Amino acid sequence: MEKNIFEQIRDGDAKSDIVYKDEYVTAFHDIDPSAPIHILIIPNKKIDTLNDITEEDSIYLSKILISAKNIAKQFKIDDTGYRLITNCNKDGGQEIEYLHFHLVGGVRLGKMISLPKDSKKIFKKFTESNN
Ligand code: 5GP
Repeated sequence: MEKNIFEQIRDGDAKSDIVYKDEYVTAFHDIDPSAPIHILIIPNKKIDTLNDITEEDSIYLSKILISAKNIAKQFKIDDTGYRLITNCNKDGGQEIEYLHFHLVGGVRLGKMISLPKDSKKIFKKFTESNN
């Protein structure tokens, strides 16, 4: 089966700007940054989405958090602050089927979630039916 882009980056088959790599994780600059600092961190094990993690993956997940902290320090945004985000599936906005975390910072970030204009109605309906 053909490797997707993050598998290719992990294996050095596709060009990327890697900022950190060890046995468990690979971190590289996002090709289309949403903030002055926008780095993607992936586990070296191919996990499709957050839904697919298992207890056995704990080491990868903890290494992702530790590397996020260290990379934030490396880019001098640890004190000012940053955000670590993972998108899951279609509604979460996941485009690449390979678990990844966006480390973003270098500017005061806006609201955590921005919804499309017509979503207010859907949101209202959803909260009503869940209460
Ligand atoms: P998602 O929407 O899946 O959470 O995030 C995918 C991210 O991967 C996007 O921010 C997008 O800019 C980034 N991306 C897509 N293709 C490439 C690529 O070829 N190289 C790098 N470095 N980033 C990519």
